Order: sequence, then C-alpha cells, then structure tokens
Amino acid sequence: MQPPPADDLPTLAAAIQACRACGLCEGRKHAVAGIGTAASQWMVVGEAPGEQEDLAGEPFVGASGELLDAMLAAAGRQRGEPGQMFITNAVKCRPPGNRNPSSQELAACAPFLKAQLAMVKPKLVLALGRVAAQSLLGSDAPIGKLRAQVQHLADGTPVVVSYHPSYLLRQPLEKARAWEDLCMAAALSEGALLR
Ligand code: SF4
Repeated sequence: MQPPPADDLPTLAAAIQACRACGLCEGRKHAVAGIGTAASQWMVVGEAPGEQEDLAGEPFVGASGELLDAMLAAAGRQRGEPGQMFITNAVKCRPPGNRNPSSQELAACAPFLKAQLAMVKPKLVLALGRVAAQSLLGSDAPIGKLRAQVQHLADGTPVVVSYHPSYLLRQPLEKARAWEDLCMAAALSEGALLR
C-alpha cells in the first residue's frame, strides 16, 4: 500500500475514516486517526483503539486514557495543548475483542502512521506497549529489551518505549518503571540526552 495522498492532518484523518485497506474496517464504529496538531513536540503511539476509543473516535479514553493523561501531566504534558502532543495508535481501527492487530493489519495501516510522523515531525516518539514499539522500530525484541534506553526511528527521531496504560492498570507495580521512562522522555525533550 502506498502512503495516502494527503497534505495535512485533517485530510489524512479523512482518508483514514474512509479507509477499507484491511478487514478491521468491517467492525469499527469509528476509525481513530488521532488527536493533536502538526509540529507537536511528542508523538504518543499506542497499539489500537479499544471499545471506548472506537465509540468515542478518540485515542486513549476511559481508564487507560485517564492514567495516561495523569502520567503525562506529571511530566508536564497536557493532551489538547497545542504543540505538545499528537496521540495516535499503530492501527486506526479496533481489532475485534481487543485482540492484538495482526502483522498484515499493522502493515496495511503503517502508511498512515508514517504519514502522521512526516506531518507532525515530533522531536520525540513515546511508544506505548510491545505492538507499538515493535511496529515503529521494525523489531521483534520484547518490550523489556526495548525500554530503558533511547531507541531511534530510521530518520534519527528518538523513541522512548514504555508500557501501555492498560497493562499498567493490570500490573500497577510496573508504574514505577513507566515513570522512569517518562522521566527519560522529559530529559530527552529538554536536550539532556540528545545525541
Ligand atoms: Fe485502514 Fe488502518 Fe483501518 Fe485497516 S486499520 S481499515 S488499514 S485505517
């Protein structure tokens, strides 16, 4: 699949709403393009919309969204604050039963994420969960090997890998490690860890 023809984020979002490039279009209520503005400093990338995101048409809502917003706020980041964060997922439509997206579905949706990265031009990417991290980095390494060190996209953009908020809700003891990851991301943003 070629990257979609779009010059800006709203046009790209419209292309995502209309997309039928994989079978996930069949069961969706909404394709969830993402929220935020171009030239945002951070891009936050999760796995895929869940039930509440599918209904709301917005990424990271419900309990996992509240936890993400609280952790980001503690790191000085606010959802909806212009220029701060663009929040999206590796795939834009909800997999049935919240299963992991397949490699074919990830590949079909990858041009949208690639186009969003090109339009937003974030200074830093925060990859939440194994699926997002492996998809962005083209790696099959487990999350434990990918987090706690700065990764990079092919163009050199730094990537911080951390746990998905829904995992943290099930494993609250891991919140301390997630907080370490956010502190690393904040330090990177301030230039302390930039190459
Ligand atoms: Fe298109 Fe991505 Fe939705 Fe599949 S998941 S239908 S590729 S927008």
